[in-house]
Amino acid sequence: MNRKVYLDYSATTPMKKEVLEEMMPYFSEKFGNASSIHSFGREAKKALDIARDKIAKAIGADFKEIFFTSGGSEADNWAIKGVAFANRDKGNHIITSKIEHHAVLHVCEYLEKHGFEVTYLDVDEYGVVDLEQLKNSITDKTILISIMFVNNEIGTIQPIKEIAKIAKERGVYFHTDAVQALGNVPIDVNDLGVDLMNFSAHKIYGPKGVGALYIRKGVKIHPHIHGGAQERKKRAGTENIPGIVGFAKAVELAVENLDSHIEHVRKLRDRLIDGVLKNIDYVRLNGHPENRHPGNANFCFEFIEGESLLLSLDMVGIAGSSGSACTSGSLDPSHVLMAIGLSHEIAHGSLRLTVGDFTTEEDIDYTIQQLVKIVDRLRQMSPLYEKVKGGQNNV
Ligand SMILES: *Cc1c(COP(=O)(O)O)cnc(C)c1O
Repeated sequence: MNRKVYLDYSATTPMKKEVLEEMMPYFSEKFGNASSIHSFGREAKKALDIARDKIAKAIGADFKEIFFTSGGSEADNWAIKGVAFANRDKGNHIITSKIEHHAVLHVCEYLEKHGFEVTYLDVDEYGVVDLEQLKNSITDKTILISIMFVNNEIGTIQPIKEIAKIAKERGVYFHTDAVQALGNVPIDVNDLGVDLMNFSAHKIYGPKGVGALYIRKGVKIHPHIHGGAQERKKRAGTENIPGIVGFAKAVELAVENLDSHIEHVRKLRDRLIDGVLKNIDYVRLNGHPENRHPGNANFCFEFIEGESLLLSLDMVGIAGSSGSACTSGSLDPSHVLMAIGLSHEIAHGSLRLTVGDFTTEEDIDYTIQQLVKIVDRLRQMSPLYEKVKGGQNNV
């Protein structure tokens, strides 16, 4: 195989060199436990404090409002279960959307089995939640709204500020999963007005297995892991210092280079979208045309199975995704593509290509060239396509 093209940055990213360098000493000579009082421990504690401070500053939060977790999924779990159980006396109603990540949807389904009621908001054809439906869904029993910032499959950006305003007016907590937003859109927790927000390091060129939950001061939430006094007695366990240090470095780089990153990925993403739409028939772009993740392209190719497309792309060295990594392996079409109103057939032909900092123009041109060939070949084998083509020729 000749070329290798990675276009799955929304699944995970390679770690940046600077991040790895920052982490290295904390695996070996600076190995202390941040809870120990001796110099080894103090050294670790200092690194932990600096990391927390960097991340807090990057999103306009206070140092005490950042809580480290093992990643985005854990933070989603904590935010939703923690607020749900801590506010059970006030009500049992939660509002979310149909296009959330499974780390949110499956938590909500779990809570439904334990006495909570959940409203799953619809989205329009672009994947945007309806603010009127949101307003009308809030009752006296509503304790939490959880709506993601940027969708991981189709890239659509939600009106977070407006949602936060509605939540605040009605005295309801608002959590947003910002895993795909961090490093791709500007984030300031006070400007946005959110109460809880979560992140993951490996989506922003940091290490896997580390993330954070922002919890606004005063939010009533239960501890997530019971044990030692780490993370202000809310999330016990010896801190992953190398991971946290790497995460903070990744956040620092992401915020510092936000504009140039956005410009780079947007340019390549648009080149990819233009190339695909111009050179291939019967293809649609999913997600919002403008208001979307700068590196996200999500297509549906008619008369084709997304899985065959992925395998064929993989054979020529191109890595993409058929939707979210969590759904691959199952035959159900993506819940996100269903929610935006696509039919099963169309949704089955989906392909997500996500561009990142290490993507080049050559990568994009090679991908377009290969896609044209592969789509054509796969369609030659589709009886449905033959029929449509035949029909067209007769007109
Ligand atoms: C990747 C992702 C997660 C999960 O984060 P992990 O750190 O992999 O657990 C949650 N939400 C969204 C939107 C994601 O893209």
